[in-house]
Amino acid sequence: MQFAKRLAKIPPYLFAEIDRKRNELVAKGVDIINLAVGDPDKPTPIHILQVMHEAIDDVSTHNYPPYQGTKEFREAAVKWMERRFGVTGLNPNTEVVSSIGSKEAIHNTFLAFVEAGDYTLIPDPGYPVYRTATLFAGGESFTMPLKAENQYLPDLNVIPEEVARKAKLLWINYPNNPTGALATLEFFEELVAFCKQYNILLCHDNAYSEMAYDGYKPPSILQVPGAKDVAIEFHSLSKSYNMTGWRVGFVVGNAIGIKGLAQVKSNVDSGVFKAIQACAIAAYSTSEAELQSLISVYQHRRDIIVKGLQSLGWPIQPPKATLYLWAPVPPGYTSTEFVTLLLDKCGILVPPGNGYGAMGEGFFRIALTVSDERMYEAIQRLKDVGIRYAE
Ligand SMILES: *Cc1c(COP(=O)(O)O)cnc(C)c1O
Repeated sequence: MQFAKRLAKIPPYLFAEIDRKRNELVAKGVDIINLAVGDPDKPTPIHILQVMHEAIDDVSTHNYPPYQGTKEFREAAVKWMERRFGVTGLNPNTEVVSSIGSKEAIHNTFLAFVEAGDYTLIPDPGYPVYRTATLFAGGESFTMPLKAENQYLPDLNVIPEEVARKAKLLWINYPNNPTGALATLEFFEELVAFCKQYNILLCHDNAYSEMAYDGYKPPSILQVPGAKDVAIEFHSLSKSYNMTGWRVGFVVGNAIGIKGLAQVKSNVDSGVFKAIQACAIAAYSTSEAELQSLISVYQHRRDIIVKGLQSLGWPIQPPKATLYLWAPVPPGYTSTEFVTLLLDKCGILVPPGNGYGAMGEGFFRIALTVSDERMYEAIQRLKDVGIRYAE
């Protein structure tokens, strides 16, 4: 049997060698501190679980859901966009579609809009799905470098005219995975203008909109006047409400973008379990106080790891959002060399920055998904073996 050629196009799994090492160490009984996964370690809040207990006993949830999502869920999504971002006038029938988590919807958006000869504009470093979905769709990706000196925002001036003309989709993600960077509404305005000029569907992956600290509230791209002419935004319950396993989110914005995505989806999947959509509605009615108590857990861990690394000479500042800390490797190391050293000497597992694109070389990512105690322990292990940023 032979795999389809499209599978061979997918780049080799960058973490394969590190995974092999990790498994070797685990087999030897080494206590690994896993700072690699962007998967919340706390349970889903109880008020959401209570809705599930009831919804599962309601037999009307047991059959196929409407493809686009239940009317109640789409209306709740529209209300939440209004309440949270002040975005009004969204039509729940034509401008919203439910998703089985964002990953699925991101991938299927490429299938709806990209074909051979088309370009996609994607960030580097960035969430790997943008690249692999371009390959699945048979398109060509142009990577927009995210550089520290530009606050990890893409510089639209480096996109060649002929690439912009052939581009169908432009992807951004702020608050950003993996860099933790933020975008302003002014920057979103620039993007909207650029995408209008070249007739590109602007796709904003807003998976971390609620995971922000120090009082910061990330914006929606749909807050930009006229954004709906070109933009769609991807929202997910996964990270904010500790619901990664539930697989639910929604996409909102430009009606053509939503229609294309919904058409692919209606041929690929059959929607989100209605009981889960009921839970998502409950999640969006979480009180501000409860949401803050979920988020403050990460803020506390962030402070521990940032202070610890700063005490070891790391030139880093606390990120204002996301589950991640993006840190430079000490001078003289490649990303892969340094994460291998951390694993071998300290039993600490982190992904190398180049796993998110070539521009990630020279960095590693720390996920805030282990307890305070394990955060302290990780810093202590670095101290014990004398790993510092620089002498
Ligand atoms: C986690 C993540 C997603 C996907 O989350 P789902 O669980 O599929 O909703 C999408 N984009 C980014 C940048 C992420 O980090």
